[in-house]
Amino acid sequence: MYTFGVDIGSTTSKCAVLKDGTDIVSTSLFVGGTGTRGAAQAVEEALLKAGIARDDLACVTVTGYGRNRFEGADYAVSELTCHALGAHLIFPECRTLIDIGGQDAKVIALNDRGRMTNFLMNDKCAAGTGRFLDVMAGILQLPIGELERYAARAAAPVSISSTCTVFAESEVISQLAGGADTADLVAGICESVAARVASLARRMELRPAVCMSGGVARNGGVRAAMEKALGQNVLYSEHAQLFGAIGAALYGWQKRSA
Ligand code: ADP
Repeated sequence: MYTFGVDIGSTTSKCAVLKDGTDIVSTSLFVGGTGTRGAAQAVEEALLKAGIARDDLACVTVTGYGRNRFEGADYAVSELTCHALGAHLIFPECRTLIDIGGQDAKVIALNDRGRMTNFLMNDKCAAGTGRFLDVMAGILQLPIGELERYAARAAAPVSISSTCTVFAESEVISQLAGGADTADLVAGICESVAARVASLARRMELRPAVCMSGGVARNGGVRAAMEKALGQNVLYSEHAQLFGAIGAALYGWQKRSA
């Protein structure tokens, strides 16, 4: 049985085709979130890659910030539920999930069946989200996917003292004007995001295994800084940005196979 998950985020649309609730048959990811053509493109590509048509799907589950604007879904489910299920499928030992997306960060506690049992969220401030990194990458004129390579080269990370994104932007510009090394600045920027989210995470009992999801998890600089800030190992999968879509597909399978 094929089930389909669609995650329409604030910046990016993601899809996953799951077979029998276990095999990830195909995935897709398009920059362009809610209100764009990103979702339609992601749907088309995931089906094409899987070599199946919409009629072959047992059901479609939509999640994410833009889920209420998507037509044709059988189920619409919160991203907290879907990220927890996605994490459970990839890492069954995961009990704490740290999800950093384009405009918010969430810390989710889950049980041994992948059900969310508690969560904390920051959706009030851009610091500690992908938005902060996107703004800083813009100032440094670096593609977002390059940040981790720079962070890995840093000799002495520059500490970013402003917690507000707008002030941090001025701080980075003045550091650049003062001749700061780009790699050191990038490492400091990654540490700043990790520190913000780690302080959110510490307000909850951090049961191992801890795992990261969301687009920001793809940045190895943030992952390394998070491990340092939390003092624990953080699991990572190359599917990290797709956990919501994968979990949505798993949700559909659980509904249809019950
Ligand atoms: P949303 O669901 O809100 O759209 P995502 O979980 O898809 O958020 O994450 C989007 C964020 O991921 C972007 O704001 C960006 O900072 C980050 N990102 C996207 N691609 C990469 C990449 N290749 N490397 C590092 N970070 C990335």
